[in-house]
Amino acid sequence: MAEKKKFQAIKGTRDLLPPETELWNRVEQTAREVFGTFGFGEIRPPIFEKTRLFERAVGSETDIVSKEMFNWVDDPDLSGAITKIRAEMRNTKTLPAVDGTAARAMLEKQARMGAFNNLAERVRVALRPEVTASVCRAYIEHEMHALPQPVKLYYTGPMFRRERPQKGRYRQFYQIGAEVLEMVPPNQDPAKNIEKDAAVDAEVIEMVMAFFARLGLEGVKLEINSIGDRECRPKYVELLRAELMKVKDKLGPDSQRRIETNPLRVLDSKLESEQTIIAGLPKIADHLCANCAGQYAEVKRQLGMRGVVFEENWRLVRGLDYYMRTTFEITARGLGSQNAVCGGGRYDGLVELLGGPPTKGIGFAIGEDRLILSLQEAGKGGVAQGRDVFVAWMGEKAQATAIAAAQKLRAAGFRVELPPVEQKFGKALGQADKLGARYALILGDDEIATGQWTVKTLADGSQTKMSEAEFLEMLRKSL
Ligand code: AMP
Repeated sequence: MAEKKKFQAIKGTRDLLPPETELWNRVEQTAREVFGTFGFGEIRPPIFEKTRLFERAVGSETDIVSKEMFNWVDDPDLSGAITKIRAEMRNTKTLPAVDGTAARAMLEKQARMGAFNNLAERVRVALRPEVTASVCRAYIEHEMHALPQPVKLYYTGPMFRRERPQKGRYRQFYQIGAEVLEMVPPNQDPAKNIEKDAAVDAEVIEMVMAFFARLGLEGVKLEINSIGDRECRPKYVELLRAELMKVKDKLGPDSQRRIETNPLRVLDSKLESEQTIIAGLPKIADHLCANCAGQYAEVKRQLGMRGVVFEENWRLVRGLDYYMRTTFEITARGLGSQNAVCGGGRYDGLVELLGGPPTKGIGFAIGEDRLILSLQEAGKGGVAQGRDVFVAWMGEKAQATAIAAAQKLRAAGFRVELPPVEQKFGKALGQADKLGARYALILGDDEIATGQWTVKTLADGSQTKMSEAEFLEMLRKSL
């Protein structure tokens, strides 16, 4: 039985190791290149923010915020929070006054239970479960509305959600995402400009699809929907709720609960027994207001013009509160039940909700872990060989030449392994093989004396002599 190590990575987190990290870098590099061609610049917001930001933006009622956030009280002496609790206790007649120690104990208990609500906003912070909220905060904080609009930003990095880990679902996972933000000029009715918004939506979707195509992702399926806006969605939600009440007894406990809290989420249900019931529910497409219906039609037309293949899925609602109108999701092959690699949508009004000017927004987040998994399953996860050149050397003079050769080769961009101490050639060649080197450069007294280097091609074992210049030339041509 394998010995249990004293320290292991926490459940739901993992180490990404070479050579796999090379694939991660390639994916991120491709994102930078493709997004760059669409005029996007990179934003790197902090990994933790005030808890309140996520409560506000993502929504306190969502699973992400109510159950899955890693948050803590960030105040070394907690004095402000303790004073607040003591004052509260004094003002509540039925409770006895508490001293500082008791207040601290209460605070810690509350923190453990995740009940931070009566703590000062200042001291509650959380690891980010997503980035859209941070991007909107940054847009406001740095007054990006004064820049040429729209502002197009992308990001990559880790997210944190306390979810039940399984294949393709982690507690620390990575996203690659992008957002387009555009302040609505004063006096302009945000409902107008439907064509323009639709074109922006379509271009954002086109960009993700171009990125996936560049990577060679297989079995890509794009689904789109419109979930209406503040005008038409509430009416649809009421209608849905009324219809769901009629079939309540036939639904499972989760869906029964959601009739009250968030009826749209019932449409998301994967429960086999609920599928025929859901198929008979009213569809939002039949209840969109004129603006939403117009924009949805235009998004479909624009996607067609761009050659982007899509399917409509009226049950695609997305888990976060801030979405409106266009929503989309992309699935890929080889991922089992967690097959969504990208989710996105429009979120006009979110910046305003966070205290900024009226602003339109659309964005998406790609699950990088799943993207990588899908590429690997399809055999597209291949990484370059370990080394280009292994420099085997023996003798003091040969060491000096070996160091100089390694410097020159590395400066030219080749991956070089240079043993730190002298090794017999037989041993050195064995190691070169294990490291997957393409060539072994063999430098001994002979080679130094004649200036003719011995070069062994490891794949076929062939060996030739050549000058330094010839060797460099050959490398450039063959790699
Ligand atoms: P969301 O922010 O929930 O819309 O997620 C966007 C994408 O991130 C999803 O489509 C997934 O690919 C990925 N994702 C979300 N949660 C996780 C997780 N816990 N582990 C791995 N990937 C995730």
